[in-house]
Amino acid sequence: VENSGTLATMSLIWSEILTELEKSVSRPNFVTWLKPTKLLGEQAGLIKIGVPNPYTTTWIEKNCLKEIKQALLEHYPTMESLQFVVLEKETTKSLDGLPLLEETDPSQTDNESSGEAAPSTSKPPPFNKSYNFENFIVGNNNRLAFAACQAVAEKPGEAYNPLFIYGGVGLGKTHLMQAIGNGVRQRWPKKNIVYTSCEAFTTDFVSAIQEKRINEFKNKYRKADVLLIDDIQFLANKEGTQEEFFHTFNILHQDNRQIVLTSDRIPKEMTELEDRLISRLGWGLIADIQAPNFENRVAILQAKAKEKNITVPADVLEYIASTITSNVRELEGSLIKLATAAMLDDMPITKEFTARTLKDILKAAAPNISGRKVVAVVADYFSVEPADILGTRRTKELVYPRQIVMYILREQLGQSFPRIGEFLGGKDHTTVMHGVNKISALKKTETAVEKDIQTIQGRFQ
Ligand code: ADP
Ligand code: MG
Repeated sequence: VENSGTLATMSLIWSEILTELEKSVSRPNFVTWLKPTKLLGEQAGLIKIGVPNPYTTTWIEKNCLKEIKQALLEHYPTMESLQFVVLEKETTKSLDGLPLLEETDPSQTDNESSGEAAPSTSKPPPFNKSYNFENFIVGNNNRLAFAACQAVAEKPGEAYNPLFIYGGVGLGKTHLMQAIGNGVRQRWPKKNIVYTSCEAFTTDFVSAIQEKRINEFKNKYRKADVLLIDDIQFLANKEGTQEEFFHTFNILHQDNRQIVLTSDRIPKEMTELEDRLISRLGWGLIADIQAPNFENRVAILQAKAKEKNITVPADVLEYIASTITSNVRELEGSLIKLATAAMLDDMPITKEFTARTLKDILKAAAPNISGRKVVAVVADYFSVEPADILGTRRTKELVYPRQIVMYILREQLGQSFPRIGEFLGGKDHTTVMHGVNKISALKKTETAVEKDIQTIQGRFQ
């Protein structure tokens, strides 16, 4: 193994190379793509460069790979190949300007310092460092779940046990669960965290039976200080696994060890589970994650763009947020697709460019509906006249449909309060604000209101 030189030398070499490259690319390109990179080291002819995200790799490969290779060869004549490594965000930031040190495995460090033998099964679970509490955007849609997860990460086994998080696809359940894992590991490095998906738990159980390792299986889960099982809804119709989970649950719970579960529905709706299990799932706290509203969606997009070093104009973020309304994963995906396309086509990110690039995603996410269409559909649903919704009469039969229209224009189309007011026959923006808030609040408490909205939205297809 060849010595790649001291860290300080590597840092110097890389800044020298960057300074040279800076002359041949534009300032914004330099700042966006080259400045955040690091030389990580050289070993046996392989040189590793740290980059903040995968499209930095794409950009470099397209624009200055040859130059970088040439420059590196001058310092490392034995170089054979070059590899780009995407770095965790915190590491890039905290070591700004310095080459990256090899990360130490936290579990190994603990065992050394405590002198205790690690349990044989305690291979540290693969938590994704980018799923943490700091980069989770909190809004009214997820505040309770967020706070509960933080409390659990601070005092596992003491706050809420079990903690049951439920919500639709792509709304951050796995993110929060992994944030608990990262948080506990940081604060309580000696705690034995077992993280698994329900499917992996099932597979593990089945193969344990087949291979006669059932005791090993039991030990693994029953010795957890913190047991995290993702997507527990998949326990449905798996009686053996359910039974095993039931016993594990009892043992851990009696001993105040933390259990966290996620699901796409509340325990009561998991009708395929045994009653005794359903009731236990509700012993602690049940916290929901709802779809983010327009403001939350813009905030999420802003944060993600910043995190990924992408500059996107505010009107484009709002445009995306007004079209993709249900799923954070899709919001994120669309942003990445947009950034990559802009870079490859060398185009500025404008609203037109966005509309063109994300055509398919945006079309699938939301049909192109106009304010008129909203009024027409709502009027039809409540059997009133569209003109009356746009009018000023304040009878009960008209106020509710009118407020539903306000709500949809705001939450789904992302229109501003004044604009909605104007569209609805010159109403004041505070009236619109009041209407939207009223429906938001009702939607949470009255299932009938939620149903109305859902049915109406379904009719836009
Ligand atoms: P789920 O497990 O509920 O299907 P995930 O946790 O996998 O959803 O979330 C999908 C993606 O959206 C992940 O990349 C996650 O980081 C991101 N995400 C979801 N909600 C938020 C949020 N509130 N703030 C930041 N990122 C979020
Ligand atoms: Mg998930």
